[in-house]
Amino acid sequence: MSNQRKLDREITRRRMLTASAGIVAGTVAAGHVPALLADEQAGDVPDLDKHPWIDAHSHIWSRDVAKYPLANGNTVDNLSPPSFTDEELLALAHASGVGRVVLIHHHPYHGWDNSYLVDTAARSPRTFRVVGTVDNREPDPGRRMRAMLAQHVTGFRITPRFNEGKWLDGGMDEMWETAADTGQNMSCLIDPSHFAEVGAMCAKHPDTPVVIDHFGRIGVDGEIRDADVDALCALARHKHVAVKASAYYALGKKQAPYLDLLPMFRRVLDAYGPERVMWATDCPYQLSGENTYDDSIALVRDHMDFLSTGDRQAILRNTAERVYLFV
Ligand SMILES: [Zn+2]
Repeated sequence: MSNQRKLDREITRRRMLTASAGIVAGTVAAGHVPALLADEQAGDVPDLDKHPWIDAHSHIWSRDVAKYPLANGNTVDNLSPPSFTDEELLALAHASGVGRVVLIHHHPYHGWDNSYLVDTAARSPRTFRVVGTVDNREPDPGRRMRAMLAQHVTGFRITPRFNEGKWLDGGMDEMWETAADTGQNMSCLIDPSHFAEVGAMCAKHPDTPVVIDHFGRIGVDGEIRDADVDALCALARHKHVAVKASAYYALGKKQAPYLDLLPMFRRVLDAYGPERVMWATDCPYQLSGENTYDDSIALVRDHMDFLSTGDRQAILRNTAERVYLFV
């Protein structure tokens, strides 16, 4: 690791601790230890020898809708699968050697409310990081992002889905500027038709960490087009962009062992390097139909003979560990 990167990481860590100290001074009664300070002493201890890998993308939800109310008119009967808690997720993950997970905000069920993911990460601060959400159309999105850093929120989900054509307006420049300062990232749920817009934002905010989810959803209609892969690879010229190699159940033939995705996977690795590519499942959706949790990690673990041991470790752990500020 370069000295500059070590320094950057130390600065980010100090910022997270300073943010916690702010909570102490502001809102936490004497005697209560805020989550990030408690990290140093107690809480969960993931067994990184037994479960070395990181799943960079899963959703979770709870049936406790009194505590975590559902948005968008959903009721507990709409939850599908009916329950997918952190315990249920980790049972699957551990069986495949995965000890840490990035929890991704789920707008359809939770709207703009981050509380279930934030509470889960507070209980298990070494196991989880959170990709949260803030509404860029509301005032002060940067201030809200900084406050969430102490709650283990190290990325923000942004997407054109609610606001096509205007999704990068409002406070979005402030969000990207804030992320460049805090080390949080912009995790983009986008299609190939949005690559050019994201590229323009990367050019405008060259120090902002950016993650493209699920290969930019190339192949979601069953066809992996070279022009789309070219455009995704072209974004690699922005040096803080990384790609999630994920959601295999939804791309191309959508069938394990997903070998039809390997030519695209290889091209992305050639463009970005394994240190900017991270594996993820997109559970519980990865569990749809015949697809299993282990089918997802098996593509990288068992079917990519061209990877060195170091490349595989980067894709299955080190990239997500760095980009989502686990250390
Ligand atoms: Zn997802």
